[in-house]
Amino acid sequence: MDKLPPEFKRLFRLFYILNTRLTFLLTHSSSTIPSYDVIAKFYLPQDDLHPVDLAIIKALLPEGDVFYDYVDENQLHLLFVEKVDFNWKTGYHQHKESESIDDLKNGGGNNSDQILIFDFRDARINSIASTMFKRRKPNNVGRGDDLFFLLLKELKLQNLTTKQIQGIIASRNDKFLKCINTWLDQYSDDEVANNIPMDKLKTLAVLPVPQVFVDPIENLVTSTSSSSSSSSSTDAKQYPTIDMMLKALHQKPFYKDQIVTTKVLNPPRAAKTNTINLEFIHPDLQLGLDSLKKIDLEKDLYTHQAQAIDALISENLKHVIVTTSTSSGKSLIYQIPVLNDILWDIDSGLKGRHSTALFIFPTKALAQDQKRHLQDLIDKLPLNNKRKIIIDTYDGDTPSSLRRGIRSHADILFTNPDSIHASILAHHDTLDDHSSWEHFLKSLKYVIMDELHVYKGTFGVHVGLVMSRLRRICDSLGNVDIQCISCSATINDSVEHFKTVCGIPPTEAVVHIFEDGSPCSERRLVIWRPPPLMNKLGKTAATEQSATTSTNNYTASPFIPRESATTELAKILLQLLTNVPNIKVIVFCTIRKICELLMKEVKSLLKEQNKFGPIKVDNNDIMAYRGGYSKSDRRIIERKMFNGDLKAIIATNALELGIDLADLDVVITSQFPFLKLNLHQQFGRAGRAKDSKGSLAIFVGGSNATDQHYMTNPDELVDRSTYEDLCVTSLINGGSTDSIMEAHLQCAAYEIPLNIMEDMKYFVRETSDHDDLIKENNYSQIVLKNLIKDNKGYYRTLPKYLPDPHTKVTIRAVEEDTYAVVDLTNNRNIVIEEIEASRTSFSIYKGAIFLHQGLPYLVEEFNAEGKYAKVKRVDVDWITQQRDFTDVDPQETQLIKPLHPIDLPLPSDIPAYFGLVRSRTIVFGYFKVNRRGEILEAEEVNNPPFIVDSKGFWLDIPSSALDAITKKSLSPAGGIHAAQHALMNMLPIFVSGGATTNPNAKFSGATSSVGEAELITECKAPEKEFAKRQTTRIRPARLIFYDAKGGIDGSGISANVFKQIDHILYATYNRVVDCECVWGCPLCVCASFCKESNAVMSKPAAIIILAAFLGLDILLVAEGLPDGPEENMPSIEVETVAPVAAPIKFATDVQIVQTRRIPNEVQIKQEDEKEDDNEVKQEEEDVELDTSIIKKETI
Ligand SMILES: [Zn+2]
Ligand SMILES: [Zn+2]
Repeated sequence: MDKLPPEFKRLFRLFYILNTRLTFLLTHSSSTIPSYDVIAKFYLPQDDLHPVDLAIIKALLPEGDVFYDYVDENQLHLLFVEKVDFNWKTGYHQHKESESIDDLKNGGGNNSDQILIFDFRDARINSIASTMFKRRKPNNVGRGDDLFFLLLKELKLQNLTTKQIQGIIASRNDKFLKCINTWLDQYSDDEVANNIPMDKLKTLAVLPVPQVFVDPIENLVTSTSSSSSSSSSTDAKQYPTIDMMLKALHQKPFYKDQIVTTKVLNPPRAAKTNTINLEFIHPDLQLGLDSLKKIDLEKDLYTHQAQAIDALISENLKHVIVTTSTSSGKSLIYQIPVLNDILWDIDSGLKGRHSTALFIFPTKALAQDQKRHLQDLIDKLPLNNKRKIIIDTYDGDTPSSLRRGIRSHADILFTNPDSIHASILAHHDTLDDHSSWEHFLKSLKYVIMDELHVYKGTFGVHVGLVMSRLRRICDSLGNVDIQCISCSATINDSVEHFKTVCGIPPTEAVVHIFEDGSPCSERRLVIWRPPPLMNKLGKTAATEQSATTSTNNYTASPFIPRESATTELAKILLQLLTNVPNIKVIVFCTIRKICELLMKEVKSLLKEQNKFGPIKVDNNDIMAYRGGYSKSDRRIIERKMFNGDLKAIIATNALELGIDLADLDVVITSQFPFLKLNLHQQFGRAGRAKDSKGSLAIFVGGSNATDQHYMTNPDELVDRSTYEDLCVTSLINGGSTDSIMEAHLQCAAYEIPLNIMEDMKYFVRETSDHDDLIKENNYSQIVLKNLIKDNKGYYRTLPKYLPDPHTKVTIRAVEEDTYAVVDLTNNRNIVIEEIEASRTSFSIYKGAIFLHQGLPYLVEEFNAEGKYAKVKRVDVDWITQQRDFTDVDPQETQLIKPLHPIDLPLPSDIPAYFGLVRSRTIVFGYFKVNRRGEILEAEEVNNPPFIVDSKGFWLDIPSSALDAITKKSLSPAGGIHAAQHALMNMLPIFVSGGATTNPNAKFSGATSSVGEAELITECKAPEKEFAKRQTTRIRPARLIFYDAKGGIDGSGISANVFKQIDHILYATYNRVVDCECVWGCPLCVCASFCKESNAVMSKPAAIIILAAFLGLDILLVAEGLPDGPEENMPSIEVETVAPVAAPIKFATDVQIVQTRRIPNEVQIKQEDEKEDDNEVKQEEEDVELDTSIIKKETI
C-alpha cells in the first residue's frame, strides 16, 4: 500500500474508512440507510469526500459489488415495514417501526425527494447470512434485489460476531487493494508518474444523477416530432398486411401459443355504388362535392347513400335511419338533402330562412368535428353573388353575446339534446327577440340525430321526451313537416328506438337502410389467451382432466395461473410496434384504471426494447387517452392523434364514439367491454383507411369468467345477431320512468299550457306488444295528479318548479363536483386531471399512488373542502390498491308486494319490498402492491364513508333456505351473490332499454351515458379482507337491487323490475337450474359486471334461495344439488351472512301492491325464451368453464 501513488493512497484511505464504518453501522443499526450524507459524516474535513470518489470506487470494484445511485425516498420507506401478514381472526396486519423516513431526511438536510445511496452488495455477506439461517422463509416477499441493505435487516446480520464483522471488513479491504494494483499494473511507471491511471479511472466513473421528472404532455409538445412522425402527411402510408402483422405476433420467444383461434370478422368487400335521381339535386351541390371529395353524384355514391338520399329527396319519404358500418360515409346522407333544400330556397329568391336544420350530437367534441366537415363542403359551393349558408354551434359553451345572432341567422345549428331542452325549448317564446327562435322552428325541416345508439336507458327516455316537446312546439307554430334522419350502430329494434328517441309519431313511416355499400378491407379477429405461468407445484400446463367431460366430477383441477391480461397486452403492443413498419394501434380498456396500468407496463417495457423487434419506439409514440385528463391536455393528445404523430393510443371507451382516426391497423381490446355492441364498435375502428390492406382485432381475455367464456366460444364473439336490446320504448310504455315523464310535462306545460286530450299524442306511444301489460295511461295520470288545472281547463306547471322549470330538470346524470389534481413536481402547480367527487375516495386519498399517463404520482395532500389533491411525481415500483367495501341497505319501505309464484293460485307469504336504499362505501385503507401483485404494505386510512341514496327493491331470504344451505356446507354469501347476478343476467329479457347492470361503469372513462350502469346490486367480496371487521359487518340475508341513476328518486328501472319480479324470479330459477354447469358460468350466475370478479359464488346455494322465493320445497330441491364447499371459491372461515332480524321501517304512506295476474301473453313469451335457451344450450353442449380459473386479476 505504501507503494501506491498519492491519489490512490487517498482513495484507499477513503475506502478503508468507508468499509469499516459502514459495515459496523449497518450491522448494528438495521434502520440506518447508507445515504451519501450519512457517509460523508465519516470523514474529517481533511479527508473531504466527494461524490465522484464513491463513483471511482464503484468503477474499480467488480461489477455488481456496489450499489451507488439515487433512490426515491418513498421506495426507501418500505424498508421500515415488516412484511404483511394475514390471519383469519385479525385480517391483514403489519408491524411498523417508529423510525421514519423523516429521520433520514433530517440527517440528510437535503430537500430532494431522491436520495443518493451507497451500499456494498458483494456476495460474501450473503453467504455468511445463508449459513447462519439455513432455512429462509419460503414466502419471503421480494422487494427488489437492488436494495441490498434491505436484506441485511431481514437476515439479521446484527447477530454477527465482532470477529465475523472484522473478517468481512478485512477481506473487502484486501479485495479493493487488489483491484487498485491490477488497475495500476496496466500502466507504465511513466504513465503512473503522470497520473494517467487516475485520469483514466475518472473517465470510467459514472456520477449518479437524480431522475428528472418531465411532464409527459409537455414532453409530447416539445418533442420535435422526430422519429415517430415518419408517416405524417407527406408520403402515402404503406399499410401493413394482415400476414405481416400475424407474422410479428408469431415470433418466438414472444409467441407461446397464445392464439386460441382466428376468425374472419369481415371478408374484404368491394364498393357497391348506385346512381341517384339527379333531377332534384342543385347543381352547385354537385360542383361542391366534386371539388371537395371528387364525388360524382351520378356514379360515386355507395348503394346505401344513394338509397337514403333518393328516399329523402326524390321519394320524399319522411324519416330515414341508416345502420351501416362506421366510416361508411353516413354524414353525406344528411348533408346532401339539407344543403340541397337550402340552395334551392336561396335560388328561388325567397327572403330569409325556409329550411333550417338541427344537427344533434351527443357530445360537443363530436359536434365540433362534424361542423368542421360540413363547413369544408359549404366553402366549396360556388357563391355566385348569392347569400352564404350559415352554420353555427349552439350549446352550453356558446357565449350569450353571440346567441342572438346565431338564432336569427343560422340555417343549420349544431347542438345537443341538453341545449334543445335548456335553451331552445325553454326560451322559444320568452326572449325579447323570440321571433328569431320562432322563425327557426317554423322553418325547421330536418332533425339529424347522429350516434343514435348512445341514447339508451334513462338518457334515451329523456331525449325522447325532449324531442316530443320540440315537435309539440313546432306543431303549434304550424310546422308539421319535420323529417328525421338518424345514423346508428347496429342495434336491435332500431326503427322503434329511432321513433321513440326522435319523437316521431307512431303513425309516420320510417325507412330503414342497413345494406352497406361501402368497401372494406378484410378484418380478422384474433382470440388471444395469455400464456400460463408456473403454479406453486412448478407446473405450467393443466393435466388434461378438465371439468368439461362430466358434470358429476367435482374434483378440483390443478390451478394454472396465467399472465395477467394487462401485462400480456403491453407485450403484444410492443411486439407489433417494434416489428411492423408504419403500424398504428389502438387499445381499448374497460376502465380508467386499466388504461393507466397498461400505460405503466408499456413504459417499463420500453426500457427493455431490445427484447422486442428492431423498430425504435419512444415514450412520445404511445399516449393514454381517457376521461379525467384536463381539457387542454386532451386537446393536445387529440391533435397528435389526428396528425398521425402517435403510433399507439391506449384509451377507454370514451374514444368509442365517432371521432375519426382513419389509419388504424389494429384494435386490441383488453377484456370484454360491457356490451357486445361496444366490442364490435371497437373492432370496427381499424382498417378504415382507403388503402388499408386489412386489419386485426385482437381480443385479449382476462381471467374473469365472461372472458373465459368467450375464449371457449369464439363464435359468439363474432355473432352480430345477439346484440343487447337498447330500445327505450318499453321503458316509457312500462311506466317505470314516470318521474322523468313528470319532469318533462312540467316543462312542456310551461312552454305551452297542456291540453290533456290533444297533447296525449306526444307523450303516449301506442305501439309494441308490451301494451297489454300497461293498462293505465301514465301520461294522463301524471297530468291529473301533478299539474294544476287553470280555469280554462289547461294544465300548468306546479309552482314548486317555477319560475324556471327547465333548470330543475337535467337530462343526464347530474354533473358532479370535480376535484382538481394538482401536480407539484418541479414546482409546476398545474392541474393535470379533474376527477368526479364519486371517484375521489377510490383514487386520491393521501398516500395513494395516482397514475397519470402510466407514471406514478404520490398524493401528498387531499383537501376535501378546497376540492383539490396535490400530487408529486415519484419513482417507485408499486401501485396502491384501495381496500373498501360497500354496504347496501334499505332505509324505508314504501311498497310491499306478496310474491306470487307463477303456478300457485295464491300469493306466498314471502314479500318483496320497494323503497329507499342507501349505499355506503367505506375505503378503510390501501395496499402497496408490486408488479407481481404481491402486497408490500398494508395502510389504514380514515375516510368518511361515501353515501348515495336511491330507490331499489329487496327480497329477504327465509331462514329455512339459509338452514338448507349451511346444512349442505354451501356458502350463503356465495348463494346471495350468485342469485343476484343470475337475476341481473335475466333482466334484458324483461326490461329492455337500459338494463345495463355494470356497477363499475360509473367509474369508467365514459363521458356520455355510454356504458353507464342503470341497476346495481351488492357484490360480495372474499371475506378474508374483512375478517378483522366481522363483528361489525354481518350482512343480512337479502337480495338487493337499486337504481344507479336518478338520485334519491331513482330512475325507474328498479320500480319496473319490482313490478315484474314474480316472472323474473321464475325465469331466473329456470335458467340457473337448466344451466349445465356445476358451480356457475356466465350463462347463469357469473357476470362481467361483477365488481369482485365473481370470486364468492355458489350456484347450488343460489338455486335454493330462488326456490324458496318461488315457494318450492327447498329440501327436495337441495337433495338434487352437490354438497359444498364450492370448489370455485376461496374457503371462508368467517360467516358474514345472518338471517334478517326485522323488516325495514315502513314509510308513513306505505302501500301494499296487489299482485298482478300473469297475462297469458307473457307466459307464452316465457316459453319462447325457454326454447331459445335450449337451442343456445345445445350449441354449447360441450362448454363448461373451468371455474377454478375465476381468480381475481392481479392489478
Ligand atoms: Zn351455468
Ligand atoms: Zn358480483
